[in-house]
Amino acid sequence: MPSGSTSARLEEPLERGLHEDGRRLTPQRRRILDLFERIGSGRHLSAEDVHQQLLEADARVSLATIYRTLRLLVEMGFLQELELTDAGRRFELRCDDHHDHHHLVCVRCGRTEEFESTPVIEAGQEAARLFGFDLIESSLNVRGICPDCRS
Ligand SMILES: [Zn+2]
Ligand SMILES: [Zn+2]
Repeated sequence: MPSGSTSARLEEPLERGLHEDGRRLTPQRRRILDLFERIGSGRHLSAEDVHQQLLEADARVSLATIYRTLRLLVEMGFLQELELTDAGRRFELRCDDHHDHHHLVCVRCGRTEEFESTPVIEAGQEAARLFGFDLIESSLNVRGICPDCRS
């Protein structure tokens, strides 16, 4: 597939993303995004996880390229970057009906669970109102040690 293809397939959100800042989803970028779309929202992958999955799919991409591509997909608005642990960053699919959620993270293995909390959302709204901010999102990161790492 030529990277300049403008075929109107079922990829409207992607195509919108392209037009917004003029950058293209090259086959490489699309493959990484496809990976996130396949596993669905609410999953959090490190660059190493992505690397591993691509290797299993027989795609030889260097870790450095994956880092660069992930960063770009964040800039283009497709992915959200989470800086949750010292061990590294995680990435998840950005989608409109899945942004006001919070993360519980194991600082040892990076296991990441999501939870929802109305009080956190309300506290964010209240703080934004108080300081006259336009609210984009409120999220809380909770660090801990998971049962597997504790035993
Ligand atoms: Zn999440
Ligand atoms: Zn753990």
